[in-house]
Amino acid sequence: MNQAAQCTVRVRGLAKAFGTNQVLRNVNLEVARGEVVVIMGPSGSGKTTFIRSLNLLELPDRGSIEICGVELAEPAALPPRERRRKTLQIRQQTAMVFQSFNLFPHMTALQNVIEGLVSVKGVAREEARRRGLALLGKVGLAEKADAYPGKLSGGQKQRVAIARALAMEPEVILFDEPTSALDPELRDDVLNVMRELAKEGMTMLVVTHETRFARDVADRIVFMEGGHVLEDTTPEHFFGAQASERCRQFLGRLH
Ligand code: ADP
Repeated sequence: MNQAAQCTVRVRGLAKAFGTNQVLRNVNLEVARGEVVVIMGPSGSGKTTFIRSLNLLELPDRGSIEICGVELAEPAALPPRERRRKTLQIRQQTAMVFQSFNLFPHMTALQNVIEGLVSVKGVAREEARRRGLALLGKVGLAEKADAYPGKLSGGQKQRVAIARALAMEPEVILFDEPTSALDPELRDDVLNVMRELAKEGMTMLVVTHETRFARDVADRIVFMEGGHVLEDTTPEHFFGAQASERCRQFLGRLH
């Protein structure tokens, strides 16, 4: 297989400012199929903006994004129709899991999981139900299919959100601090589901401060600061004695 076919995500020269705040300066990253890349860095370093840019929830000012062969170069400069077309193609390959779950409160867990299958993918309701129940089973929530989000714990809500992401059969899942809104005792259930996905070979980009997850599960750690990738390295190196002074200082403050 050639390099291009293996490379699932390729980002070049990504830059983004909010007004005068230059949040991303020149971010470059390649992620191969099946890799788990954890993105760490201090608050305000641009991690969330970066991961949201990958599926165009933020529109980068400059740079290019390629996901599974769909390339979106200089999206801000494209005619709006062309940009929308490419954005939809990229969103068909990616799913996003948010810190705040973003479930529809007026829909049951199962309805949340299958909504996109029915309305975006056009899957028949019975088939969508069957797949949705299987996915809720996979995240350990088969018995909560008919529960509304208001009756679920944060950890359960996030697992429903992961099942919803999986329902769309994405090539890549983007996680934006998926456990940081959860009480510590609820985090492991979510992290264990993510561990399973990683084992199954899902390509994952994960913004998180969960050092144990990063150490155990990540293939690579990307350390961002000031809108740059400062380090792109293995967990062994990142968490080891050879890590840069800056990374050790950052990790020291996390504990
Ligand atoms: P991190 O995830 O590393 O904490 P963010 O990407 O959330 O960093 O934020 C980086 C900077 O961008 C912060 O200064 C933040 O205030 C700013 N920012 C993020 N989103 C917006 C927005 N929608 N409008 C204006 N400023 C934003």
